[in-house]
Amino acid sequence: MSRFGPARCLEGMSEHNTRHRVVVLGGGYAGTVAANRLRIRDDVDISVVNPRAEFVDRVRLHQFVAGTAEATVGYESLLGAGIELVVDSATRIDAAARRVQLGSGAALDYDYLVYAVGSGSAIPESVPGAAEFAVPVGEWESAQRVRSELERLPRSAPVTVVGSGPTGIETAAELAEQGWAVTLICGGTTMPSLGGPGRRYVGKWLAEHGVTVLEGERVGEVRPDAVLLAGGAERASALTIWTTGFGVPELAAASGLRTDELGRLLTDETLTSVDDERIVATGDAAAPSGRPLRMSCQGAGPLGAQAAETVLSRIAGTEPKRIDLALTGTCLSLGRRVGIRQLARRDDIPVKLYIGGRMGARIKEMTCDLGVAKIRREARTPGSLRWVKGGPRPEQPARTLRAGSPA
Ligand SMILES: Cc1cc2nc3c(=O)[nH]c(=O)nc-3n(C[C@H](O)[C@H](O)[C@H](O)COP(=O)(O)OP(=O)(O)OC[C@H]3O[C@@H](n4cnc5c(N)ncnc54)[C@H](O)[C@@H]3O)c2cc1C
Repeated sequence: MSRFGPARCLEGMSEHNTRHRVVVLGGGYAGTVAANRLRIRDDVDISVVNPRAEFVDRVRLHQFVAGTAEATVGYESLLGAGIELVVDSATRIDAAARRVQLGSGAALDYDYLVYAVGSGSAIPESVPGAAEFAVPVGEWESAQRVRSELERLPRSAPVTVVGSGPTGIETAAELAEQGWAVTLICGGTTMPSLGGPGRRYVGKWLAEHGVTVLEGERVGEVRPDAVLLAGGAERASALTIWTTGFGVPELAAASGLRTDELGRLLTDETLTSVDDERIVATGDAAAPSGRPLRMSCQGAGPLGAQAAETVLSRIAGTEPKRIDLALTGTCLSLGRRVGIRQLARRDDIPVKLYIGGRMGARIKEMTCDLGVAKIRREARTPGSLRWVKGGPRPEQPARTLRAGSPA
């Protein structure tokens, strides 16, 4: 365990009775915003636990693998004064004792816990060879592996990207623009986050840049140098990159807390765990009412702010507010010069309109820059983050889809 910030004894603190101790698990978009916003009060001691000493700007990982951008940022400018960064991983939450066990063997006590462990890549066990021979781009360590594998290969080597969600499309496009011979295997659904015209626009760009797009084809097996399609056809693949969706850490379920079927912590509409009022979940790892929002950086910042507001309300003895944000469509980069901003209704359903070309690329670039800029601003001025509201969601009882299993 290493840390920067004020050195202090974490257990048996004498100020425990007068100060409020909040531990934030995960220093991504949601966790950093939550930690910074908690500084609205000056009687809160805040620790952020994160496995790395640097923030991973995940929205740039497809660029990182293609060598067109770096994807890490130092926490010095992202965490406000006085916030302690604990470089470690939480291994278990003991809700009854209000204590988090860390991989290093240390433990942190808390008055409130913000569960912001985010998401990562998910490779299905059902596809033989996928876990052994395919590499995902959705998290830092695997993205580093993809980059170093690419550095070993000639540009003519066949590269396969599996999955045609935003991560798959952006990765295929970024690599194709850099001269790689890319095949995109779409699976059942092609570019689900885009409307019809947006899909056609992206399809045309990919075709013009030499990407072989296999719509409706699924991967049945991955081998070290090939993929086998579900229909039996074999395609050479020097590197297979897996992007079919995100999974979440098992921490909540392994700690006996209720989750949805993916493992996101089940909360009410104030982001409070249905099992424990002292635990608040946010970002990709939260499932409010069992109806999680689309996993996104767009949602993670506002959800981080709302998680902090819930903790601040509980400290103040006031009723926390229900979440209120609107996700309004995605933007994708198609290499460095072109992008697409898919317009959507306030409920995130894509419409026919989109902004493409250089303007689409500028919007995407600005959106990525803003993700980090907003964290910095919240670090300097807690409470500054604003977002598009969609109105509170209709009340529904929280659906428990999977009971946690005490470790
Ligand atoms: C290539 C790519 C492009 C993307 N583009 C976009 C985009 O254009 N727009 C958009 O809205 N979204 C985009 N996303 C999705 C977006 O990055 C995620 O939805 C977002 O990162 C979620 O934020 P978060 O704070 O919930 O989690 P994360 O950013 O995943 O942060 C969670 C943090 O918690 C840490 N953690 C995990 N387990 C533990 C533990 N046990 N103890 C302590 N810490 C732990 C993780 O290491 C990580 O640092 C993209 C994702 C990828 C991979």
